[in-house]
Amino acid sequence: MSSDPISTMVSRNLCTGCGACAGAFPDLIRMIDDPVNGRRPVVEASPEGRRAAEDARSWCAGATTTWHDLDRSDAIDRDWGPVLAAWEGWASDEEIRHRGSSGGAVTALADFALSSGAADGVAHIAARADDPRLNEAVISRDRAGLLRGAGSRYAQASPAESLGTIAGGDENVAFIGKPCDVASAHKAMQTDATLASKVPLTIAIFCAGAPNLVATDRLLDRLGVPKDGNLVDLRYRGEGWPGLMQAEWIDGDGTRHVSEGISYAEGWGRVLQSDRRWRCRVCSDHTGAFADISVGDPWHAPPGGDTDAGRSLIVARTARGKAFVEAAIRAGALIAETRRRDVIARAQPNLRATHGAVWGRRAAMRLLGLPAPRDRGQGLLRLWLGLPLRGKMQSFAGTWKRVIRERLWRRVRIAGLAR
Ligand SMILES: Cc1cc2nc3c(=O)[nH]c(=O)nc-3n(C[C@H](O)[C@H](O)[C@H](O)COP(=O)(O)OP(=O)(O)OC[C@H]3O[C@@H](n4cnc5c(N)ncnc54)[C@H](O)[C@@H]3O)c2cc1C
Ligand code: SF4
Ligand code: SF4
Repeated sequence: MSSDPISTMVSRNLCTGCGACAGAFPDLIRMIDDPVNGRRPVVEASPEGRRAAEDARSWCAGATTTWHDLDRSDAIDRDWGPVLAAWEGWASDEEIRHRGSSGGAVTALADFALSSGAADGVAHIAARADDPRLNEAVISRDRAGLLRGAGSRYAQASPAESLGTIAGGDENVAFIGKPCDVASAHKAMQTDATLASKVPLTIAIFCAGAPNLVATDRLLDRLGVPKDGNLVDLRYRGEGWPGLMQAEWIDGDGTRHVSEGISYAEGWGRVLQSDRRWRCRVCSDHTGAFADISVGDPWHAPPGGDTDAGRSLIVARTARGKAFVEAAIRAGALIAETRRRDVIARAQPNLRATHGAVWGRRAAMRLLGLPAPRDRGQGLLRLWLGLPLRGKMQSFAGTWKRVIRERLWRRVRIAGLAR
């Protein structure tokens, strides 16, 4: 029997791991943590499983997105997706600001969604209590729940698993995720009007790529966590800006230990980023073009140390996103100042170059007979043409080398986590 469409997405390296398909059909499609290939869906091998996978395709943005309907009027919008307005700011709640990844703006906006009555719940991810190396999709209804998710987790996570619960429930739920998670949520809402009516707001975090579990385990080694230690906490960011990567574990005698904290620069640069999935390297939206609001680090004005008071870059992508940020500022939930719309380019120069390289990487894949994602109407060729000659050549040559080194023509097979 030929493979179903969701399993094909996984095996051909097109799946981002957002979890929307599993959220739509939780009894027939489930997400599995594969240490190398990431958190990916596995479809029940039955006619019902196949039918579910066929239906779930309409919620999946892994292979295709459409940018034609996004409101883009000038060069900034064409480079980054709609940028209606931008701010630099932080949560007025000191604990949220401190625990947040940059300035806690995402958690502050989520908390304001709850306190203002705009949402009854907020769908986001949090570290699993039984194994903090892994993440779970949760819906929080209070500040304490939201704080569980504060701080970026540079690891696999599938927040769109909550979309099915939202569609089947009777609450309004705001949605937080990476750009690929929000792209699937956006696609699902376009297909399912009932779901759309229950999601009052989407917030995307900027994302350069999600490392796999092998990378997380390497981080734990670097932090000196013994293999037989019972891991009880693992932080990648937060507790200041950009924050330290740090773990806590309990040894066989019941003594709690706190590891050394290593800098974000070391942890991301030397330990984690090399194990981002291939799908992330051909991702063309690292800043959440499909969200109402997207939030990242204002790297154009970097912190002086590792645990400074945090600041977030906040971008309104839609009119409702802009109105929501303005209301949060008026209510005092968010302290923020407006910035020129081109601040996104100054804050994330590396991501613009990455978007440009993606056209070359995908073209090289297609020349080699490999499937590549399509983002219709985004205009990636224009970004690629703007790269220096060296960058253009590198996007092709680097892809060819990687295809050979990682044998990317082979089908990806998902194996569950050995426990
Ligand atoms: C894998 C990864 C790569 C990133 N790359 C960049 C980058 O290149 N440039 C940049 O400016 N910023 C990047 N960020 C985002 C940045 O670290 C901050 O998350 C962002 O600035 C928001 O900070 P905050 O303090 O406002 O959010 P917080 O208040 O800390 O809230 C963060 C929210 O993000 C959610 N979240 C955390 N990890 C994940 C995950 N893995 N998947 C889905 N949701 C998650 C949490 O549930 C929480 O709701 C990345 C984040 C991740 C997870
Ligand atoms: S919906 Fe998300 S998890 Fe499912 S196949 Fe598509 S990209 Fe992968
Ligand atoms: S780089 Fe793109 S595909 Fe990868 S996790 Fe981030 S948003 Fe998703």
